Amino acid sequence: MRLIFSFLLLVLFFGTSRLYSQQEVVIADTTFVNLKDYSADFVYDMKYATEDNFLKAKVYDCAECFLRLKTVKALVKANTKFIKKGYRIQLFDCYRPLDIQKRMWQIVSNPDYVADPAKGSIHNRGGAVDITLVDTDGKQLDMGTPFDFFGPEASHNFDNLPDEVKKNRILLKRIMQKSGFVSFDSEWWHYNLKNAAKEKVSNTKWLCN
Ligand SMILES: [Zn+2]
Repeated sequence: MRLIFSFLLLVLFFGTSRLYSQQEVVIADTTFVNLKDYSADFVYDMKYATEDNFLKAKVYDCAECFLRLKTVKALVKANTKFIKKGYRIQLFDCYRPLDIQKRMWQIVSNPDYVADPAKGSIHNRGGAVDITLVDTDGKQLDMGTPFDFFGPEASHNFDNLPDEVKKNRILLKRIMQKSGFVSFDSEWWHYNLKNAAKEKVSNTKWLCN
C-alpha cells in the first residue's frame, strides 16, 4: 500500500513539474514582444533610433517597437478601428529600457522633458506608446505640433487650434480610449494602457541584427 502511495506521489510530482515547464514557454500578457510579430499594419518612425529628436542623440541601437503583450493586443485593436476609417497608427516610441531612460536623463536632466529614471515612466513599464495617425497615402494628420513639442500647444486642453487639428486629436483620443488606453493631458501623442503603472520598470533589451 505504501509502495503504491509513493508511486502515486511520484506520478503527481513529475506530472506537475511537466505542467510547470509547459507554462514557462507560454507567452504571458506581461511578456515583452515585438509589435511587428503581431501585425504588419503599423507605420514606424522611431525617433530615438535617429538623431531627429529633441535630444539630438540616437539612443536606441535599432528601431524596434517592443511592448508588453497586453499593450500590443490593445494597440492592434485600436489600429483595426483606425484602418476601417482610412487611417493607420504611426509610432514614434514604445517600450524604453531603463538604461536608455538613464541615458536620456544624462543628456537632459529636466523632469519637464524626460521622466526621472529613479521613478521610471510608463514607457519603461512597456505600457506606453507615442503615436500619431497617417492617411492612406502615408501622410501624417495635422495634430497642431510635431511629436515631442514642449509647449502648451501640445496639450489636449489647449483650445486655440484650428478645427481640423482638434478633430484629428479627438479622432485619435476617442479610438485609443475605446481600445483601453488613457490619454496624457500635456502630450497629444502619448497614450498609456490602463493600469500600466502597476507593471514593473524593466531593463529588458531587444537584439539588433
Ligand atoms: Zn510618451
